[in-house]
Amino acid sequence: MVKIDGHTHTELCPHGSHESTRKMVERAIQLGFDEYWMTEHAPMPAGFASVFGGPLDDYESEGLADSQVDDYLKLATDLQAEYQHDIQIKIGFEIDYLHDFTDSITNFLAEYGPYTQHNILSVHYLQDDDGTYWGIDYDPDELKTGFGQELHAPQRLYSRYFKTVLESAQTDLGRWQPDKMGHISLIKKYQDYFKFPELFDQTNLALIQKILRVMAKRHLSLDVNSAGLYKKFCNDFYPGTQIFTMAKQIDIPMVFGSDAHAIDEVGRGYHLNELFKRVDN
Ligand SMILES: [Zn+2]
Ligand SMILES: [Zn+2]
Repeated sequence: MVKIDGHTHTELCPHGSHESTRKMVERAIQLGFDEYWMTEHAPMPAGFASVFGGPLDDYESEGLADSQVDDYLKLATDLQAEYQHDIQIKIGFEIDYLHDFTDSITNFLAEYGPYTQHNILSVHYLQDDDGTYWGIDYDPDELKTGFGQELHAPQRLYSRYFKTVLESAQTDLGRWQPDKMGHISLIKKYQDYFKFPELFDQTNLALIQKILRVMAKRHLSLDVNSAGLYKKFCNDFYPGTQIFTMAKQIDIPMVFGSDAHAIDEVGRGYHLNELFKRVDN
């Protein structure tokens, strides 16, 4: 079996620890990983600021600056070559799915896709009824400001989120379409802060089933992401047991991801992934 950490960030990530990417790779080697996927946040599309409702820092620190993309690819390809006998480094981006910006996402992928091996598509921003975007994982206040009413009817908030995830899975982003869906239960990052219900209702389960079918059809893998386990108000892995079980039933390929933004976070919680893979085999 190939041991993969399929979701990691680098020293260039504006909201990361800025710890050495080389040391993160060395940590992965020490832990016995065969593959290490670098999936840095792509720059936010031009014009996003004007339709974004949340705090400036969320927007400014979400992704690489345009001017850092070449630096990132150089950092990644240099380490890929240098450590090729110890670990397979795969290069890519974590791409934000944004309904109104699919052209610029497609253009970005057309330009930089040829330098990548695996890319992740993630939903970190949802639109309110007026079309304004709000971050769902920056802090609880931003989620509250954007979707305050739905915090009292969390299944409705879940539906808003899963509809966007479904749309992201269905959208054609061109030849370099990401092949992995990132943390598809991220809406639960603050579940223990807002006391969200643990289980998804029937409406949401139907949406999730649709998402998984689209993923199966389009050969998209699922990010089994351990980062939420270590977040103060999440305390669970993404996508959680309910979605995980459904995905397993229809044989969606799963790739573990630590979502590491620091050296000590590389490979965190990997044994949990192993445990789940053995359940109901
Ligand atoms: Zn990040
Ligand atoms: Zn993410």
